[in-house]
Amino acid sequence: SNGSGGIRKPKILLMGLRRSGKSSIQKVVFHKMSPNETLFLESTNKIVKDNICNSTFVQFEIWDFPGQYEFYDSTFDGDLCFGDCGAIIFVIDAQDDYTDALSKLCSTVRKAYKVNPDIKFEVFIHKVDGLSDDHKIETQRDIHQRANDDLLDMGYQGVHLSFYLTSIYDHSIFEAFSKVVQKLISELPTLENLLNIFISNSGIEKAFLFDILSKLYVATDSSPVDMQSYELCCDMIDVAFDISTIYGWKSEDKGPFDNESQCVIHLNNSTVLYLREVSRCLALVCILREDNFEKQGLIDYNFVCLREGIHNVFDLKMTGGLTNGCLI
Ligand code: GDP
Repeated sequence: SNGSGGIRKPKILLMGLRRSGKSSIQKVVFHKMSPNETLFLESTNKIVKDNICNSTFVQFEIWDFPGQYEFYDSTFDGDLCFGDCGAIIFVIDAQDDYTDALSKLCSTVRKAYKVNPDIKFEVFIHKVDGLSDDHKIETQRDIHQRANDDLLDMGYQGVHLSFYLTSIYDHSIFEAFSKVVQKLISELPTLENLLNIFISNSGIEKAFLFDILSKLYVATDSSPVDMQSYELCCDMIDVAFDISTIYGWKSEDKGPFDNESQCVIHLNNSTVLYLREVSRCLALVCILREDNFEKQGLIDYNFVCLREGIHNVFDLKMTGGLTNGCLI
């Protein structure tokens, strides 16, 4: 915590060759753009800082190769760029020849690691929607091997790269981005613990703590995540958010969600989805069996305890009551 009533927002750089998909990722994840609309995005030629920081959990910048900057240019200030950076997401277009991308990846890793050895290197093998399953695995193996070989040759055996197969046409981009953000939250083990206690005491199967605007999950309990459950919860956020935006009570300083916001959806397979607001930016979404929802009073009560726990973890200052206590 930075002591000012919010958490220190992780800074992420989104890098990669031009046309690899960086702006599309930003628009789809943080601006609710539909994937098809990205076909008409114009290329950007400068470092783009996103200005949505106030309403989401992460801050990030987009950097394009080539031309935009050169590491060995005297005007390039590595300390400034990498010093306070938590993670670099390097986007590689898997539908294209990636030889150039790999060499840029390695020069980026070398430069950034020298300045800041704590940076996490996250490689998005992107646009895999056009690849067969076999081809996906093979591409990941090939990129993994070549990147690591290059780094070894340069004497960087201690550097760890993580790889993800992503596409903006399904939830894989949200899943991968969520994992990147989670690595930067130092309170994660405590959050997971709180969620574990909450679900086991409430008869809940799965619980996600969501950043409402981006639908990234910043934490979940320690049972395995399956994509279908995650997608279901994402859809619920959309439904709840849209309805609140249309019909919710609005005021200057509050979004459509407030302390009392909740949403319950009964599915026809005896499953219930349960959503509660945690802060201005965060919401809890749970999946449980309908029988267990008979004890809704218990779940509501446990949720209030959980919310208090989460607020304590992030050391929130409760100015003006819980409703105004927002994480960022
Ligand atoms: P940038 O220059 O790195 O910001 O790249 P853009 O975001 O402008 O994307 C370049 C092109 O790739 C656009 O036409 C996008 O529609 C397309 N694109 C981005 N992500 C994906 C993806 O996951 N799958 C496919 N098939 N195309 C994508």
